[in-house]
Amino acid sequence: MNNTKYVFVTGGVTSSLGKGIIAASLAKLLQERGYSVTIQKLDPYINIDPGTLNPYEHGECYVTDDGAETDLDLGHYERFLNIPTSQANNVTTGRIYQSVINKERKGEFLGKTVQVIPHITDEIKRRIKLLGNTGKYDIVITEIGGTVGDIESLPYIESVRQLQWELGEDNAIVIHLTLVPYLAAAGELKTKPTQHSVKMLMQSGIGPNILVCRSEHEISEDIKRKLALFCNVKKEDVIQSLDAETIYDVPNLMFEEGLDSVVLKKLELSSEKQPALTEWNCFVKKYKNPKQTIEIGLIGKYVELHDSYKSITEAFIHAGSTHETKVNVRWIHSEELENGNVEKKLKGLDGLLVAPGFGERGIEGKIDAVKYARENNIPFLGICLGMQMAVIEYARNVLGLKEANSTEMNENTAHPVINLMEEQKEITNMGGTMRLGAWDCTLETASKAYAAYQNNNISERHRHRYEFNSDYKTQIESAGMKATGINPKTGLVEVVEIPTHPWFVGVQYHPEYKSTVLNPHPLFLSFIEAAINYSKK
Ligand code: GLN
Repeated sequence: MNNTKYVFVTGGVTSSLGKGIIAASLAKLLQERGYSVTIQKLDPYINIDPGTLNPYEHGECYVTDDGAETDLDLGHYERFLNIPTSQANNVTTGRIYQSVINKERKGEFLGKTVQVIPHITDEIKRRIKLLGNTGKYDIVITEIGGTVGDIESLPYIESVRQLQWELGEDNAIVIHLTLVPYLAAAGELKTKPTQHSVKMLMQSGIGPNILVCRSEHEISEDIKRKLALFCNVKKEDVIQSLDAETIYDVPNLMFEEGLDSVVLKKLELSSEKQPALTEWNCFVKKYKNPKQTIEIGLIGKYVELHDSYKSITEAFIHAGSTHETKVNVRWIHSEELENGNVEKKLKGLDGLLVAPGFGERGIEGKIDAVKYARENNIPFLGICLGMQMAVIEYARNVLGLKEANSTEMNENTAHPVINLMEEQKEITNMGGTMRLGAWDCTLETASKAYAAYQNNNISERHRHRYEFNSDYKTQIESAGMKATGINPKTGLVEVVEIPTHPWFVGVQYHPEYKSTVLNPHPLFLSFIEAAINYSKK
């Protein structure tokens, strides 16, 4: 029996209160105090994972080293904690039911009627304890997706209730995140929505141990007392969480409000060591005091929802801070580039990033954007689909293979410079069947990529089906675009560059997933540096 402690984070009143950021900030503070911490997200939807969800629905799909397609909150966890997550850190209702139903088919329930309670709740509890049972963590923080009162969250809330009963309140606590809205007409902060959401939790048998209250205005001592009285917590357990200038301020704000010390006290853990946050604060300081500003164009087809590119914009922030540079993003819809207005839309940019994506919509605009960056010597980073578009553009406009395309866009193209690998051709299921997770890559020493990584051997995360078609490698290379990164096992091309261009790099993998506050990604650092140099010309 190990003595991992559990912290559950539930949400009340409304969605989008930032449970993920509160969980990550608390974890950061506990980590800085010397505890090993991980964070898990339980998502109450029926998809097995968000891999099949449209980014408009759910924002970016984040990918872990072990190839799990997960919720974007896991990206925040990694960026804050600087430690990798895995499949065990993200569980959906679909996954829970799938395991239970598989067991039922195998006859493992020995003739019993399979029910939400106890079978689904047992499976939820098993998944929660999985991380604790590794013995690697002093504290596991579990974020329950959705809002208390949702029908679909009920089995999760019941599982938390049972776990808290089994483990005791000194080993498992519940933080409830709520909203304390300000009514301008009355000039008052209102506590009623919080009271109602706590009442709802209590009906499920859980009394929250700590309330974190999101608010646009300072919560007075009087209001804290009122919240404490009606929600059955101590006044010191009511923590205000005011709107922050940046998510990276939240750990400091939560420290000032004492969230981490209240948590440690309840879990009967020592709070002697103070969180230093030295490197973190150095990052925040540089981020907030840039010496210059650059503008990067982000070309994608889901740009209406910025969350679709969360890891990319966060990677800009990390790299920008290192260079003491504010990176402004100009959001450019790839479909809007298809009317010969490329020059107008892209003028004045210091760098161009063509984003990952799927399907045909908007790809001609992406290809036009690549051409513009290539011909005008503007620093260019192509990620996944963006790299594939760079290869197609080169084949069409430099090699003169006018019909060059990816078989994803045109199955019968005369020049499939991007195509499916043999093993992908047999696959009919959409979910979890791409080339996923960490793969090794060997970099050529004479390359921009090597200059960035300062290493020949790297490992990066993937999420795609289509690949650079090696049949075209010799032809493309002799025309000037070089394959500078190769998968040592499969020979697949992972990185392409144009050596005569000041900074033109396309990567089949997703560097953005591995950029963290303490480890800004080398490729982003190098890309931003190139953009800074370009801006000075
Ligand atoms: N649609 C492309 C593929 O499947 C690229 C995927 C991506 O950009 N993540 O290969």
